Amino acid sequence: MGQDKLLCLVRRHVAQARVQPTLSSEQVDLLFREPGILSGYRPSGQGFIYYFASILHIHNETINIWTHLVGFFLILYRWLSLLYDPSSSSDFLPVITAFSVCCLAYTFCSTLAHTLHSKSPGLHYLCFQIDYAGIGFYTLGCSIYVFYVSCYHQYFVTLRRYFLPSVVIMSATGCLCCCIAKLKYTRPYPFRRKLWQLFSFGTQTVLVFSLVLPRYVNCVSDPQCHLSSLSHHSNVVAFITTSVFFFSSHVPDKLIPGKVDIIGQGHQIFHVLCTVGTLLQFDTIVWDIKHYATMDMIPSTSAICLAMCSYLLLVICVINTLRPFVVDRIQKDLNFKTRLNNKLQ
Ligand SMILES: [Zn+2]
Repeated sequence: MGQDKLLCLVRRHVAQARVQPTLSSEQVDLLFREPGILSGYRPSGQGFIYYFASILHIHNETINIWTHLVGFFLILYRWLSLLYDPSSSSDFLPVITAFSVCCLAYTFCSTLAHTLHSKSPGLHYLCFQIDYAGIGFYTLGCSIYVFYVSCYHQYFVTLRRYFLPSVVIMSATGCLCCCIAKLKYTRPYPFRRKLWQLFSFGTQTVLVFSLVLPRYVNCVSDPQCHLSSLSHHSNVVAFITTSVFFFSSHVPDKLIPGKVDIIGQGHQIFHVLCTVGTLLQFDTIVWDIKHYATMDMIPSTSAICLAMCSYLLLVICVINTLRPFVVDRIQKDLNFKTRLNNKLQ
């Protein structure tokens, strides 16, 4: 490539990065529209540099990108501070590391998805499949820490053989269900799509957190025990429940259309609650390692690594298997758009 051509290319990208006008919801394809968000959309069909540069511009995905980008670095900081904390128990470091890696994966996948999904329909579907794979990593990370440091002791003994394979399959199934729901329904999405998402990952979350439930029951029946001694778990459950509400309801976007296009979207609140909830989960892990977990619960590092690698392999298979269905979906969307345009002419 000649020097002039290279200079021209650099200039074009710098110009793209400098000015990024946004579009209204009517100006973008139905696939990219969000309920209650009327403006601030990025145009599709631009180069990758345009979308990466858009991280520094104001549009309706800016806060979604930054809430999880900042979350990524906060989680990284929390993990490293625990790794280098001399008072941390090294026996449970595989649990802390597994949870941290899973949380870094979900914030990274989410940041990537929100940054690039407007580029094209194909990338839109792929980005959200990667985002769902990230959510699966998060539920797997939660399952691992709840089981190895917080689980009611008798449940731990009963379930220790089957737990990891079961949660790997549940996380991969959750990812598969979300991908199917995204391909099955078209915008405006019916509430049934949310149900697919909520039931898939929700069932796993409820099952996993129910492993802590007997500790509450025992505490209530024990006059020496105060429920506040379990407040670290109660706070996490409160944050998860509230975040699920904002994820599924599109509130306040639907109530005040056009008023929260840039800041204040339900999805942004969901991201913030997820990040804060994740940081609280680190405190929960540290508390339970110090005050509840026993030496019998020390996990096998190789088993945890195998579980995480198996999950990664399964979601790669899921995404790869669904590729022909994505192509089919894009073609159907295109046919629908052509029919609509012909009708309007
Ligand atoms: Zn998101």
